[in-house]
Order: sequence, then structure tokens, then C-alpha cells
Amino acid sequence: MKLKHKVWLLSVLSLSLLFLGSCGTKSIANQDIFERIEETPEIFWGVKNDTRLFGLMNIETREVEGFDIDIAKALTKEILGEDGKATFVEVTSKTRIPLIKNGNIDAIIATMTISEERLKQVDFSNVYFDAGQSLLVKKGSPIKGVEDLDANTTVLAVKGSTSALNIREHAPEAKILELENYAEAFTALQSGQGDAMTTDSAILLGMAEENPDYTLAGDIFTDEPYGIAINKGQEAFLEAVNQALATIKENGTYQEIFDKWFPNVNN
Ligand code: GLU
Repeated sequence: MKLKHKVWLLSVLSLSLLFLGSCGTKSIANQDIFERIEETPEIFWGVKNDTRLFGLMNIETREVEGFDIDIAKALTKEILGEDGKATFVEVTSKTRIPLIKNGNIDAIIATMTISEERLKQVDFSNVYFDAGQSLLVKKGSPIKGVEDLDANTTVLAVKGSTSALNIREHAPEAKILELENYAEAFTALQSGQGDAMTTDSAILLGMAEENPDYTLAGDIFTDEPYGIAINKGQEAFLEAVNQALATIKENGTYQEIFDKWFPNVNN
């Protein structure tokens, strides 16, 4: 055989092998999570690392802590048993949907509101926390509520959050500055880059507790029901998460976790 023909034959052969190989293995994002965790008992949860009370990195222990984290641990135990492992991967409001779409994480439990827009991309568990949007300002600020946000005020919000969208609706005149994450948004508020910061009141409460010069302004002006996001096409895993959620609500575990993080709130 001539050299030219040999080279051609080899390329055809290797291309066919490549094609056959890729037929056998599904991409990570399309693998059935429920089947995988039955074999390897580990769930990858996307969580916040900069949100006090929900998901915050403890720099001493290098462990992430908060309500979302404890709920994820309880659900993991319920689904996989005592030996099941909950592994936490950091997400921000902006990165959480891309990370689940790529198959980097199995579920998002990260202060995430169930919204029509998001339901086009992911499925959600039943509601596990009821939040609502509010404002955080420096004590003594003339801003007492969303009605005080006018063309002369700048509001700080986080990219990829419902808060950034909602504020356009509730304060259309106000200028909006969107930051990458909550740590950056609060630093921007402290340095005077904005007059108020907006997100869910429970998140703002965490910041106000830690920084007594800041306070919440006005009542909540939206409903933000939190759900656990799971990729589309993962019905068995979604069902397992919903069942586990119902169980921890029934057996008191949910209430214990709620009281640990929100001792002064009635549920
Ligand atoms: N719950 C709102 C949202 O899902 C704000 C909190 C957040 O950015 O995660 O966008």
C-alpha cells in the first residue's frame, strides 16, 4: 500500500475509534446522578462561601458553615445513609447555573429563589426557606425603604441574583451597580460606592449582625422562596431530594437547623 493510503486509512480508523468511544460514555452533565450516588455515595452541593447564616467559609477550620450547609448535610444523610458524603463546591449567584449545567455539581443549595426564568433552565425542589428582598444602609441614612430610592441614589446588587432584576422594577429611577458576589457588594457599600445594598433580608441580617454600623431599611418588598436547583432530566435524584426534605421536616431535624441559625425568627 502506498504511504498516502496508509495515512488515510489510519486517520479513518482512529476517528471511528474516537466516535465509538464517545458513544459509550455520557458526558458528566448527562449522567444519571441517582445511579451514580448509589454506587459512589457522594453528593456535590453548590453552596455560597461568602454569605453569613447560609454558607460562609470559616477561615480557621476551612469548613463552610450555615443553614444551607446543614440542610445539605441532613439531606445527604437521609438519601445516602450515615456513610454518605456531602462535598461542597463554591458558587456565586452568577456561576451557580453554569456550574450545574456543566455537571460540576449535582445540586445548588445557595439562597436561590425559585423563579419562572430559572425554571426554564433547571428544576427546583419544593420550597425549603421563605425569604424576601430588603435594603441594607448605614445607620442614620436618609433611605428608610425602597420608596426612597430615586435618581440620586445608587443601589448595590449582585450579578445573577433576582435582587438585581427586582430592584429595576421597584426603583426604576435608581442607579444600580452590580458586583460579583456579596463580599464585594458589602465592601462597596462600606466604601461609599452606593447608598444602599439590596438582597434578601435574611442575608442582610447576617451582615448587619456582623457590622453594627449597618441596618435594614424598610420592609421586604418581594417574595423569594428558596429551592434546591437540580439539572433537568434528573427526576430520580429530584424525587429523592424532595422525599428527604419531607422527612427532615417531619422528624424535627429541619426545625433544629432553623432554630440554630435563626433563633429569633418564628417558623
Ligand atoms: N434569593 C435571591 C436570588 O436567588 C438573592 C440571593 C442570591 O443572590 O443568591 O437571586
